[in-house]
Amino acid sequence: MLKVGLFWFTHDLRVDDNAALARAAQEVDRLICLYCVDRPARVGDVRHPNQLSPIRRQFQLESLIDLNQALQQLGQHLEIREQPPLDAIAELITVHNISQLYSSVHVGSYENEVWGTLQKRYGQLSFNRLHSHTLFEPSDLPFAIQALPDSFSKFRRAIEKPALEIPSPLDSPQSLPAPCTVPDNYWQQDISNLSGLFTGGAGAAERHIRDYFNRDLASSYKQTRNGLDGMDYSTKFSPWLANGSVSARRIVEQLQDYEARAGASDSTYWILFELLWREYFQWYAHKFGNRLFKFSGIREHAPTTSFYAERFQKWCAGTTPYPIINAFMNQLNSTGYLSNRGRQLVASCFVHELNLDWRYGASYFEQQLIDYDVASNWGNWQYLAGVGADPRGHRRFDLAKQAQIYDPDNQFVRRWGGDQPLQPLDSVDAADWPI
Ligand SMILES: Cc1cc2nc3c(=O)[nH]c(=O)nc-3n(C[C@H](O)[C@H](O)[C@H](O)COP(=O)(O)OP(=O)(O)OC[C@H]3O[C@@H](n4cnc5c(N)ncnc54)[C@H](O)[C@@H]3O)c2cc1C
Repeated sequence: MLKVGLFWFTHDLRVDDNAALARAAQEVDRLICLYCVDRPARVGDVRHPNQLSPIRRQFQLESLIDLNQALQQLGQHLEIREQPPLDAIAELITVHNISQLYSSVHVGSYENEVWGTLQKRYGQLSFNRLHSHTLFEPSDLPFAIQALPDSFSKFRRAIEKPALEIPSPLDSPQSLPAPCTVPDNYWQQDISNLSGLFTGGAGAAERHIRDYFNRDLASSYKQTRNGLDGMDYSTKFSPWLANGSVSARRIVEQLQDYEARAGASDSTYWILFELLWREYFQWYAHKFGNRLFKFSGIREHAPTTSFYAERFQKWCAGTTPYPIINAFMNQLNSTGYLSNRGRQLVASCFVHELNLDWRYGASYFEQQLIDYDVASNWGNWQYLAGVGADPRGHRRFDLAKQAQIYDPDNQFVRRWGGDQPLQPLDSVDAADWPI
């Protein structure tokens, strides 16, 4: 009897260095490659489920088109379902008599819930979930996940001394088992023409990374990385890393090639350093599970912040009393991307100046950022809100001082329209009562 497998793509939109796909290629005779265009609502959600910004949606669609093309070259195609993965997978299991399921390990609670439910419901099937989003596997790490160090510095020291070797990426399979569904008409939809900074997909990722290293930008990364505007001051690898169009291991391999060719430096090391931050937040999310989304984070005490609809709206729309924040939010809203400095400042403003519940800020980022990554986003927000992995526990940026350092001539603020007539934080009536 033919063995039929199903591969559920999530944040691993590539055929290269995809351990679970490589395993499926070896184990089954027929394969369905599935992606579900669906996103979950979360408690405290500030937006309707499925409400990705148009730029994020476009980036996702471009990534899927590219993945479909890569699969076609291996004799496959991508089956897209606009329905919750649990429903889509259950239906496909029944119709196609599937015996093996494959996917990449995910830290999202929703993806884990779906996988867990499937395992319970279809105990007789073979379930295979392998790591593809991290540099290391749990068994490589010098500690159990539950004993993950409580700060990034301790984590990095444990990884670096003695130096843990980063495993090499896997090659793409030469071919894939034949599909057992026919291509649908999903691909006939129009791709909108938003002029995004980034084009989705593994092909675009490969070109961008090659170009980044060919232009020797890696040798000045440490000096430029705190920039606010443009494509060159930091690597801009994050959008493709986030949805898995490229693996972190493939990037490290290219970084090492670059060091062999052009010389290692503080700057090249610093790129790895930042990738280790990413790695830390991935294991942090694995360790803490749903506490990633809790108001009190991984701490015992909830912050004293609250929710004020008007302040939240003003922050989202870039109409706060802080020009630098408005400029960052305008940049985020029109490009789907924000520099690391920008993210730190708008998050600090959100929590400390506007006194807002940090989870609403994290949710807004989830909707807007084309490099949205569940672990990096929620882990960084917790950190900034003082309920996460920051040993100092409280990090409030002086916005005026930061603007002076990073935008001394006000060019960035002007460029992104942050200097429009400023509005008061809260609306009041003639008798000074809040409206
Ligand atoms: C509040 C807040 C929310 C964030 N949300 C996300 C998110 O959803 N997705 C995301 O990828 N990054 C997030 N970051 C981290 C960081 O801002 C971005 O990874 C970075 O700005 C992406 O640009 P780049 O690729 O040019 O980064 P570079 O500076 O070139 O860094 C190289 C790579 O290292 C990783 N990296 C760098 N800094 C961090 C960091 N602080 N945490 C985790 N990984 C890091 C990224 O994968 C990045 O691509 C967030 C930071 C903050 C403060």
